[in-house]
This record gives sequence, C-alpha cells and structure tokens, in this order.
Amino acid sequence: MVKKIFRNTFLTSLVAVILSVGLILFIFYGYFEEQLVANLKAEGKLLANGVKHAGIEYFENFEPTEGMRITWIDQDGEVLYDSMADISSMDNHSQREEIIEAFEKGEADTIRHSDTLAERTIYYAKLLEDNTVIRISYGYNTMVGVFFSMLQPVLLGMLILSLAVYVVSSYTAKAVVKPINEIDIESGEIQEIKGYDEIKPLLKRIRRQNLQIDTKVRQLKREHERREDFRREFTANVSHELKTPLTSISGISEMMLNGIIKEDDIPEFAGNINKEASRLISLVNDIILISELEGNEQYMQKEEVNIAELAASVIKRLEIPAAKRHVKMSLSVVDRDGKEVNIQEHMPEMTVFGVYNMIEQLIFNLSDNAIKYNKESGSVNIIVTECKKTVKITVEDTGIGIADEDKKSVFERFYRVDKGRSKEVGGTGLGLSIVKHVALYHGGGVHAEDRPGGGTRMIAELPK
Ligand code: ADP
Repeated sequence: MVKKIFRNTFLTSLVAVILSVGLILFIFYGYFEEQLVANLKAEGKLLANGVKHAGIEYFENFEPTEGMRITWIDQDGEVLYDSMADISSMDNHSQREEIIEAFEKGEADTIRHSDTLAERTIYYAKLLEDNTVIRISYGYNTMVGVFFSMLQPVLLGMLILSLAVYVVSSYTAKAVVKPINEIDIESGEIQEIKGYDEIKPLLKRIRRQNLQIDTKVRQLKREHERREDFRREFTANVSHELKTPLTSISGISEMMLNGIIKEDDIPEFAGNINKEASRLISLVNDIILISELEGNEQYMQKEEVNIAELAASVIKRLEIPAAKRHVKMSLSVVDRDGKEVNIQEHMPEMTVFGVYNMIEQLIFNLSDNAIKYNKESGSVNIIVTECKKTVKITVEDTGIGIADEDKKSVFERFYRVDKGRSKEVGGTGLGLSIVKHVALYHGGGVHAEDRPGGGTRMIAELPK
C-alpha cells in the first residue's frame, strides 16, 4: 500500500511539477519574444531616423546591440551595407518577405526559422525616404534551443526537483498509511481516525466479523469441551458398566472352580454367568453401534425406507421376548387422511429417505423397551402415521410409565430410571440414546409422553 501510494503521489507530483515549469517557461518565453520584437522595432526606428539625418556615415558610429545585424538594401534589392558580412558575397534581397512588405507598407517585421529548430531570427525592415530599406535582425534561441543550451542546469534542476518530490511522496505515503496501521483491530471499540471517515464502514465490518469469529470460536470451544466431558464420562460409564458383569462372572466362576458351590446350585450360578455374559454382549453391541453412528454417518447409504413394513418386521423379530412376558403386540397404520389402513389387505408405502439399519434400530429399541418395561400380560401398539412432511412412529405400552422428571433424561446415555429393573431385563442404558441419535441424524426428533390409561407413549418423527 505504501508503495502504491508512493508511486502514485510521486508520478502525479512529478508530472505536475514538469507541466508547471513548462507552462511558466512558455509564458515567459512568449513575453520575452514580444519584448524582443518591440526592442528591435524601437532600435530600427532609431536607426532609420539616424540614417535619414546623417546618411551612410551614421552606420560607422552606430553601435548595434550585441548579436544585432544591420543590413541596408537599395530599391533593387542590392545590399549596400551589412554589419556582419562582406556585401560583395551577398545575393539580391528583393524577394525577402520583410523587404517586399517594407516596400509596400513602409515597415515590416517577421520571424524566420533558421536551418535548425534551435534558432530563429527576427527581422525588422523600414523604408526610408530615399526608397532604400534598412533592416535589422536578431538571432535568438527558440524554446528548444533554450532547453538544449541549458541542458545541464535543466537536468540538474529536474534531478533536484525529482529528489524533492521523491522525499515528499515517500513521506506522504508513510503518513497516509501510518494511522491505518495503528488501528487496533482487536480492540472492541471503533476508533475515530481524523480524516479517515471513509474507512469507518470497513472498520465496522471488521469489528462485526471479529465479533462473529469470537462467538464462533467460543461456541466451538464450548462444543469441544462438551464433547470432551462427554467422552470422559462415557468412557468412565462404559468401564463401569463392563466391570460389573465381568466382576460377577469372574467371582461366580472362581467359586465354581474352588468347589465352594454345591453341585445342585451349579445350574443357577451358570445361569447367572450366562445372563451377565448376555448383558456384556448387548452392551458391547450397543457401544459398537454408537461408535459406528458417530464415526461413519457420512458413509451410510440412504434409501427409501418403508416404515410400515419395517415396523411389521420388528414386531416379528420381537415375537419370542414378547411371548415370554405375555405381551401382546400390534401394528396400526394411519394414512394422511387420518384413516386406519387395513394392513392385512395391503401394506401401504409410507417411506422416509434414510438409513435402513439405523431406522430399524430405532423402532426395535422403542419396541424392545415397551416390552421390557411393560406389565405382565400387557400390550404394545406401534402406530405408523403418515403426516404432511413426516412419518410418525408411536410406540405405546401399558407398562410402568416414566415420571415427568425423567422424560427427558431417559434419552441420555446410561440413564436408567430404575437401575435394578433395567439390569434385570437386560438393559444397557444406551437404547434410547441410540434412538435419539438416529432421529436427530435424520433431521427428526423423539420424545416421551404418558399414555392415557397408563404406560408410556414414545413418539419419533422422521422427515420424509
Ligand atoms: P435400558 O437399556 O436401560 O433400557 P434405555 O436407554 O433403552 O436403556 O432406556 C433408559 C431408561 O428409560 C430405562 O432404563 C428405563 O428406566 C426407561 N424406559 C425406557 N423405555 C421405557 C418404557 N417404555 N417405559 C418405562 N420406562 C422406560
């Protein structure tokens, strides 16, 4: 920037200086030329007067100005006298412009270029009473001539001027940029800089952007910290959750090895080991699923997933655990007009664009919980409803219900309302957090409500 300002100022000033000097020279030169003509005329008249009274002798006593030449010409154009040249070598002057005009009008002045552009001669001719013409002339330098004859001082002057312009321009450039450099962009305040009103909007924009960046950085930091906390907590939770069944398994098997357990009790203890091992497997499976969901989301293939059909297949998968608890499962499908579809006749297309396995896991976890936290001989109803922009999956049970204060927390990882019960039914504490994750990933959501008449109603909505 300094360079650019310097270059512009320097060039502009230099051109301005050269133009002004040229203009001044031109004006003065015009004036000088005018003066020259006037002087010459005056001297010519004086001379003519002298010759009129004193005749040819007058020339002998006349002292012309330095550089001035006097020529006397008779009516035929023959040179009678010349102050600089031998008249015998001079040709006839009758055709010279000023001579012709002097014979016609009594006097004439003219300026003629010499062979070079550098010199000019000014002539003044006056007709005398005896029909002769007296002419005086003066050779002088033209502008070009003056320039070249004064080349050295001119160049020197230009050099000094350029130097001065250089110094001034470089100072100006630095002075212009200095206040801008001194702006404290980081400071929250918009500073007033005298004479720099035009950059105020820019400063405002920078400040606004700075604020935005600040907010974003703080947001990212918070997000990072949250994730870090979460990861730490998750790891601690996972270790704890893994340790409990492993401790049981290890303790029971050790007792078996040591023969502490009676032969008759072995099936019961082996059953316990089996239960703990199953819990471990479910837990590890859920952890793997969660890390897959977190890490590979972008690589998961999305497709049209028919939710009604998927719900029916989940119910099939859960037939055995449901039967064990004597829980009856059913599926209702409601179309966009609010009418229940007869799914025995045909399974309607109620699709969302999503990841098949993820959505299957969502419906499975909700339905699995509805069985696990149900009452003996209860029922579970899955209702798939097509809405304008979403497909709603409602899983209703007639079970123990969720207290209002837990309705939000149950979606957090490892949150369990009743740890004992969760353990007993083989829960991992991760099921609903996977549900929430899947719903959010698809741009939807999930929440828990009370089912009128008792039990829980879980509602997940997925955009089409
Ligand atoms: P878990 O593996 O313990 O079932 P979830 O994340 O699936 O973990 O559920 C978290 C907790 O929410 C459960 O431990 C349970 O207390 C409660 N819960 C989930 N679903 C239901 C439901 N349908 N009825 C009552 N409580 C439920």
